[in-house]
Amino acid sequence: MRTLKQLNFKNERAIIRVDFNVPLNSQMQVTDRTRIEAAKSTIKYILLEGGSCILISHLGRPKGKDPKLSLEHIVSTVSNTLGEPISFCKDCIGEQAEAAALALKPGQILMMENLRYYKQETEGDFNFSKQLSKLGTVYVNDAFGTAHRPHSSTAIIAQFFENKKCFGGLLEKEVLAIDKVMKKGVSPVLAVLGGAKVSSKITIIESLLDKVNHLIIGGGMVYTFTKALGGKVGNSICELDYCGYALQLLKKAKQKGVEIHLPLDVLAGDNFSNDANQKVFDIMEIKDGWEGMDAGPKTIKKFHDLILKCKTILWNGPMGVFEFSKFAKGTISIGESISESTKGGAFSLVGGGDSVAAVKQFGFETKISYISTGGGAMLESLEGKILPGIAALY
Ligand code: AMP
Repeated sequence: MRTLKQLNFKNERAIIRVDFNVPLNSQMQVTDRTRIEAAKSTIKYILLEGGSCILISHLGRPKGKDPKLSLEHIVSTVSNTLGEPISFCKDCIGEQAEAAALALKPGQILMMENLRYYKQETEGDFNFSKQLSKLGTVYVNDAFGTAHRPHSSTAIIAQFFENKKCFGGLLEKEVLAIDKVMKKGVSPVLAVLGGAKVSSKITIIESLLDKVNHLIIGGGMVYTFTKALGGKVGNSICELDYCGYALQLLKKAKQKGVEIHLPLDVLAGDNFSNDANQKVFDIMEIKDGWEGMDAGPKTIKKFHDLILKCKTILWNGPMGVFEFSKFAKGTISIGESISESTKGGAFSLVGGGDSVAAVKQFGFETKISYISTGGGAMLESLEGKILPGIAALY
């Protein structure tokens, strides 16, 4: 892995692929600057080393040159976040773009227009990538959130830079955090998997069986397993087509020496809403008219004890319908237990979609070792895939 420190940036124009695909409100203001904050240290490092920065990113999924998705809307937020002036170029390739990039002096930052104004970006077009490469003399990829896409700016462009390409600071941190679980996990290694459906997590589960000692299954996935084991699931979410797979998986885990932990009890609701009446059931005995919505009290205690014994913990997917406050306790408790275990020296990684949202919503951000910035990219890494944006840097 070639990192920022291994390249010389003095008098170089660094093309930095950042992930500034940030949410905007109707006044075109940035409503969450997490992704901008995440790229800050890479940009600052290159400026301090005497280079200039050319920021390239996509924003949304424009069909053609949609002014609503111009990166110009975010220039002032990026500038405020970095505490540096930023100039903007209304294109990302071509004469105007190349001239603006060439005019940059060390210490200056230029942001280019939305890469996805060109369909060639997502097509991974060779010529478009070549044109992009002309903007700078060095290529840095710091966009973990799009590293799983074989796009021009994330993967194809790298071939034009031979040795003058490297991981940005954020990409490096993400890869090291994944490696700490998937390659160098200190035993006992635990994965906590939740979320709605077994069918969407199969590849992750399969890949994790070779990496972990313990696997907690939570959230809506549970009921496909309990149904397969002969339990009563009431109205709970259950994928009947996957019951056979669930049984196979339990068998495979046993063969590999992985302990699978299912909940002992469940907090159910009599309808899918925050106003539902609540009742606790044994996990195998959910009555008709009730659906499992969150982990029950015995489960919370059981999972807490296990989490405290583990030294490496990966968490993906909520333990219940945490969007409803009445059914958020299981997810909050898992966050608390992982935080406590982390305080005691465990390494914890939270990645992929809703669990990251939950961690932020319930205030565990500073208590977890690493929170991934990339949803799809993190999930594909957990599936054991080598991401094209990362492969291209080697
Ligand atoms: P995923 O994207 O697969 O990680 O799923 C996240 C979603 O799973 C969240 O929106 C949760 O509300 C949902 N979820 C978690 N537990 C349950 C459950 N017991 N029943 C229905 N949905 C659930």
